[in-house]
Amino acid sequence: MKKEETVSESREPEDASSLEPPSNQPDSRQEVHLTIQAAPSTVFTVSVRSVEFLTKHFPGTSVSDWNNWQWQVRNSFTSLDQLNSFLGLSEQESNSKAYGRNLPVRITPYYASLLDPNDPGQPLRRTVVPVALELNISPGEVEDPLSETHDSPVPLIVHRYPDRVLFLVTNFCSAFCRYCTRTHMVSKQDKVHSSQVEWDKAIDYIREHTEVRDVLLSGGDPLTLSDSRIEYLLAKLHDIPHVEIIRIGTKVPVVMPQRITRDLVNMLKKYHPLFMSIHFTHPDEITPEVMDACNRLADAGIPLGSQTVLLKGINDDASVFKKLTHELLKIRVKPYYLYQCDPIPGSAHFRTPLESGLEIIRNLRGFTSGYAIPHFVIDTPGGGGKIPLLPDYVVGREGDDLILRNYEGKTYRFPDYI
Ligand SMILES: *Cc1c(COP(=O)(O)O)cnc(C)c1O
Repeated sequence: MKKEETVSESREPEDASSLEPPSNQPDSRQEVHLTIQAAPSTVFTVSVRSVEFLTKHFPGTSVSDWNNWQWQVRNSFTSLDQLNSFLGLSEQESNSKAYGRNLPVRITPYYASLLDPNDPGQPLRRTVVPVALELNISPGEVEDPLSETHDSPVPLIVHRYPDRVLFLVTNFCSAFCRYCTRTHMVSKQDKVHSSQVEWDKAIDYIREHTEVRDVLLSGGDPLTLSDSRIEYLLAKLHDIPHVEIIRIGTKVPVVMPQRITRDLVNMLKKYHPLFMSIHFTHPDEITPEVMDACNRLADAGIPLGSQTVLLKGINDDASVFKKLTHELLKIRVKPYYLYQCDPIPGSAHFRTPLESGLEIIRNLRGFTSGYAIPHFVIDTPGGGGKIPLLPDYVVGREGDDLILRNYEGKTYRFPDYI
């Protein structure tokens, strides 16, 4: 596991997907930049837990290797055997049929260090370790529930709403969440990179569509690309006069906070207004490392939001969810969306009744800061887009009065003359 420790210090980090052993051709377009990097170990927070994990599972590897995001990618756990090396696997988790079939496995050493080796029910562990239950297909589950392929006018672009587009810039991800809505695309290992030619076609589409004022970069995970490739995209999009804002959707700050280097944030902040939506799931993800990464991003003036998928037994408890929102606000991340889990194949064990989401919102509204309250949405199968669900605060009308119920269940009237 420690065969690939050496990293060139003076070379710009490559794309994560090019760090992968066999799957891809070397990317000849990859530029090599000579940059001076500070010793990572002096830059990043490293918790005691990480150091213990490093010493135990990667003996002889230095903390500065651990802090190098390329090292994290190269040494990610991707097979049943590798998971077996640090987790006591349950029967469900050690069923080999759950591996290599559909969604691959990928856990960074950093995120692995957060997993409880003895508890298969631990929330974080359940989000990344496959189980045989994934093999059960339930009614209504489909490959591409959001019909993104259908709403795609050119490859890589999903144009569903009038004024904004989703731009899927890479299929590579630094973690495969077991409930991933893009399972159907990230699992295509033969095509992790998108070529610059494909990017340019997507950018041309955006340039030609003057109604697009907001571009959302997602994937896969855009932050697994090298700084120079991310900058290529941002610079091109920033140059388009009608593109008012750019957003990046990512889980990297949570599963590989080492990626959020000074160089990266210094580059990102040249392309304001730039927003970031980070995929958080559970309060246990908010470690000193993640706090550090989010602080860097926020200090660079990037407004941070979180997107969370509601998951049974993981974050569907109202007090756990409230804790998550409070911890997020402390690191300047605004809870943005709470998603009902999409019906991808083999996801029934994660799905909650809609009532759970409503109950979470009911438990937040009035009881805590409005800033802590996300929109609870269903991204509707068939491409209908996100539809918000709210608890019923409107009881009804009596003549000219609207009858409302507040967070404590008390009834109030508001004069609403028509
Ligand atoms: C979620 C999504 C967006 C962005 O939606 P917002 O509500 O503006 O955050 C844009 N396009 C597609 C296809 C989406 O799924």
